[in-house]
Amino acid sequence: MPYVYDFDHTHPRPPMELKDLLGGKGANLAEMTSVLGLPVPHGFTISTDACRAYMERGWPAGLDDEVAKARRRLEKKMGKRLGDPSDPLLVSVRSGAKFSMPGMMDTVLNLGLNDQSVEGLAKQTDDERFAFDSYRRFVAMYGRIVLGIPGEEFDTLLEAAKELAGSTTDAGIPVELLRYLVDSYKLIVERHTGSAFPQDPVDQLGGAVEAVFKSWNGPRAIAYRDHEGIPHDLGTAVNVQAMVFGNRDDNSGTGVGFTRDPATGAKGEYGDFLVNAQGEDVVAGIRNTEPLSALRKRFPKIHAELVDIFDRLERHYRDMCDTEFTIEQGKLWMLQTRVGKRTGRAALRMAVDMTTDPAIRITKAEAVRRVSAEHLEQVLHPHFAGKGHAVLTKGLGASPGAAVGRAYFTADDAAAAAERGERVVLVRSETSPEDVHGMLASEGILTARGGLVSHAAVVARGWGKPAVVGAEKIRIEGKTFKVDGTVVVEGDWLSIDGTEGDVVLGEVPLTQADPPGEFDVVLEWADEIRTGHLGVRANADNGPDAANARRLGAEGIGLCRTEHMFLAEDRLPIVRRMILAVRPDEEEAALEELRIAQRADFIEILEAMDGLPVTIRLLDPPLHEFLPHTTDLAIKEATVGLTEEEHALYEAAKAWHEFNPMLGTRGVRLGVIKPGLYAMQVRALMEAAVARVAAGGRPVIEIMIPLTVTREELALARSWVEDAVEQALAVSDALSRTAKGPKAKESAKVRSARRGAGLEVLIGTMIETPRAALRAGEIAEVAEFFSFGTNDLTQMTFGFSRDDVEGRMMSVYLDKGLLKRNPFEVVDADGVGELVRLGVERGRATRPSLKVGVCGEHGGDPESIAVFAAAGLDYVSCSPFRVPIARLSAAQAVLDAGHVAKAAAPAAKAPAAKAPAGKAPAGKAAPGRTAASRALARKPAAKRA
Ligand code: PEP
Ligand code: MG
Repeated sequence: MPYVYDFDHTHPRPPMELKDLLGGKGANLAEMTSVLGLPVPHGFTISTDACRAYMERGWPAGLDDEVAKARRRLEKKMGKRLGDPSDPLLVSVRSGAKFSMPGMMDTVLNLGLNDQSVEGLAKQTDDERFAFDSYRRFVAMYGRIVLGIPGEEFDTLLEAAKELAGSTTDAGIPVELLRYLVDSYKLIVERHTGSAFPQDPVDQLGGAVEAVFKSWNGPRAIAYRDHEGIPHDLGTAVNVQAMVFGNRDDNSGTGVGFTRDPATGAKGEYGDFLVNAQGEDVVAGIRNTEPLSALRKRFPKIHAELVDIFDRLERHYRDMCDTEFTIEQGKLWMLQTRVGKRTGRAALRMAVDMTTDPAIRITKAEAVRRVSAEHLEQVLHPHFAGKGHAVLTKGLGASPGAAVGRAYFTADDAAAAAERGERVVLVRSETSPEDVHGMLASEGILTARGGLVSHAAVVARGWGKPAVVGAEKIRIEGKTFKVDGTVVVEGDWLSIDGTEGDVVLGEVPLTQADPPGEFDVVLEWADEIRTGHLGVRANADNGPDAANARRLGAEGIGLCRTEHMFLAEDRLPIVRRMILAVRPDEEEAALEELRIAQRADFIEILEAMDGLPVTIRLLDPPLHEFLPHTTDLAIKEATVGLTEEEHALYEAAKAWHEFNPMLGTRGVRLGVIKPGLYAMQVRALMEAAVARVAAGGRPVIEIMIPLTVTREELALARSWVEDAVEQALAVSDALSRTAKGPKAKESAKVRSARRGAGLEVLIGTMIETPRAALRAGEIAEVAEFFSFGTNDLTQMTFGFSRDDVEGRMMSVYLDKGLLKRNPFEVVDADGVGELVRLGVERGRATRPSLKVGVCGEHGGDPESIAVFAAAGLDYVSCSPFRVPIARLSAAQAVLDAGHVAKAAAPAAKAPAAKAPAGKAPAGKAAPGRTAASRALARKPAAKRA
């Protein structure tokens, strides 16, 4: 397999499909040269294979030989030789990986100049100034990039030369000074390396190629790949190309051009150019560029040629392209093209426009693929306007979008400031349900501790509020925080970027969220693609959130965390009273309060989601999130003392204290030790459902038991649920008969509803522990649906505390490569993903009609969605604001899977759910269908969705 390919090499496949081998830039140069026949300066590409071989074993055997042959072919095509003292060829040496990594790797220009050839170039071009300007640029660039000499050494001399010449621009330096600069630069090289500047172009070329290989593993490149999720083992290709010069005279120039406007997506060419300049000058922004319309006036023929090339490029690539071009003494050269990067707004517009553009005509599926989750995020949330803000500190980007406000350090202070009309950023060490009113009043939330599935992150994401969590370096002391020597006090302005995790001191201007009209069009197309394959639901805990989720396209609720219904300041005490109750009457009273509050909430949610499935998860309050902090109360006791009520709370809180609350009395375990709890919730829910039916609605209910680990445990919980369903219906039936008489019109309607015309109830469980996933086969005997809680499943599979490890440990693990991705952000496809696959397979083997979804935070992450689609899940569920992204990603996953997900679902191995004889709790009917559930005429949806 050769390492080197000329741009005009005939490949067996279109070169633009060979980015793995040639890198993006090399593939496109070859495409332009060998397929499109565009005016591209000749050159050759050293493949990524060579770079990978170099990284593994050092300089590859045979590479020198191949490069030498390619160099000779290039010299022949150009009719010039590298280093020729009379008419030298000069080349550029540029990196070019499979994925674009703009500016992250190295480039060397003007290679081939030496003390002799510079004179030849001067004579040949009749421009001594140009020749020496090119030489001084080359020595400095080569010195910095290949020889590792600090760039400032060259810059300082250049500045001094400009001062001496009395000029503010490079172009104002006279040739004598340029000659002097070249000599001085060569001395710098000698001082640093102990040898003279390399004069042999063959050595120069070898050095530059090796420097580009090495720059693949430079710190900038590694950081960029980490950020973009680009694998570290791909390597870069190297492109060696004959130089053309835009800085020869006023009949020359250079520019960048886009075939459409990359900011808005508007049709028509767009770009900048500079007369008498090299590419670097355009990028460096040292001179004011002119728009392409000015090119039309100055060089009308070249402008027409360029526009024609743009047309051909768009037709060929069937997409918007960006290009670099140079005009050398009136001749146009194309130096580069690629499918261009674009803003979210432009991506949406172009995707839609190109479906009807007769020259392009992409399909709807292609349009859906061309919009990314980041594009949608850009138009869904405000962001920092511009770049280059001084970042005070960083945390985890936990809830996307940017926010600006004054820092407040307690929920009460934040709420009070918001009440006064101030914009607020709430700064907390971590948050708990006690802080919710302050979080609600804030523009954004910043915490020093916690991870992507911590309380602050989950709640903020649910509301679409920007949040940065786990900003470890922050030390909060009272109403100030310190970070790296800076002190931020209450009332100081802070700006946070919940997408990137950046915290900035001061007010950063924001761009507004503003989805264009094409947003809905693309998402409707996405829905067409995924319908019948992968549904999208929302995690929502109240009516307004549910309504918002539906507006954003959710097809139901995949998780209603009923404990979140008690987050409001006046409701939290009820849950606490229920948990801490000592006497049965106290517990009953608290449960009754819960029932009344929840019934009203359930009615709102069911109304907002009328006709769509709503998964109500029975209470799962990790106790540490819902109980008062014993340390706070201890401090209060030692300082100002406690009230009688606080004292009782403190004693109870101490009694309930657990060393490991995430593995403690949570989920169904709480239900087991407080048996009235789940029954109460189900009653509230069924009363709400009946009220909805009476109002003409169609509630579709799924009751979900959290944190189950055994079939017996679920069977027990299921029996309470079924009893409660039955009782609730019987009571309300009797009541309505007494109230209105059996023949009353409304009563008949209600009764018929209860008998099954309008109510559908499924009972299922979350799969949140490795055991539950492994024993999914028997758990499915008593569950009609599963929902994977991948937050807890990740926590328990890795043994990583979801509240602690991300701040302290995760960044080190990622830096050292011990983990490729943060598993709380992107589901661990190998470990947790394996458990999901096993769970689906074993569950459906028992019960082929088993509905399966996911409701952990991964349900809104594009990469994770692909894993879930491949595992054959019926739906993903995520926070309301994430729903559009999930709709798009689900469609893309369905396209990628080629609809294999359903085909790959295991065939039924056993008939539909059969109760495990003798395994039901004593005195209970086998946990199949009870009379009540039969009365409800549950109709498992024929098509899972
Ligand atoms: C989960 O564990 O993934 C889940 C959705 O439940 P919670 O985050 O409420 O523990
Ligand atoms: Mg959970």
